[in-house]
Amino acid sequence: MSEYQFEQLETLSLVRMYLKALPSGEKDKLRLTAADYLEFRRRVDRFLERYCGSVCDQSCYQSRLSACCSREGIITFFADVVLNLLFSEEDEIDGLVGVLRQESDGFKCVYLGSAGCRWRIKPIVCLMFLCEPAKAKVFRQHPEAESEWLELERQRKKFTWPDRPVLFDILEKYFIAMGCSSPLMYMHQSPGLLRVKEKAGI
Ligand code: SF4
Ligand code: SF4
Repeated sequence: MSEYQFEQLETLSLVRMYLKALPSGEKDKLRLTAADYLEFRRRVDRFLERYCGSVCDQSCYQSRLSACCSREGIITFFADVVLNLLFSEEDEIDGLVGVLRQESDGFKCVYLGSAGCRWRIKPIVCLMFLCEPAKAKVFRQHPEAESEWLELERQRKKFTWPDRPVLFDILEKYFIAMGCSSPLMYMHQSPGLLRVKEKAGI
């Protein structure tokens, strides 16, 4: 098991354990906290379906040359893991644990299965990744899509960029308050993000 897999497995297992210990009403509250974020993701999905379907296809994801899903170590925030587990079934979580325990050849993301990404709520970095050739093609074919994409990028920050109280920071704080700690808690550990918070007086 690689260092990346170990780190991912450790965080996934911790989050799973803490979530299991919560009363179901508390889990519902957490799911409700994520409602606006999920709505935002649906807007991104609609954009991708409308404009990118003909550019990004399954063969691209499986190709070793593709910029998508081609690295073992995609960045996942702690909140990505929490959100995914909050909305996943137990057998889906077992599937993630299974691939993290397997030997990986490192040529593609450990989470990439034959039917695509194994995450139900995939990491925000993945959801909003469009390679430069794809962007160029989409924006050339649909000039109106460019401003729409920029607006989605701006909205993403409302959940992930901690110059204000954001969901990704709130979820980390919630788990820290319960005694949980993970190297994926970038909102509380990344020097860059800590500077953003300090500058914003948070
Ligand atoms: S973003 Fe680029 S690499 Fe990824 S699926 Fe689309 S065309 Fe392929
Ligand atoms: S987590 Fe999913 S979407 Fe992201 S790189 Fe891995 S397989 Fe691809």
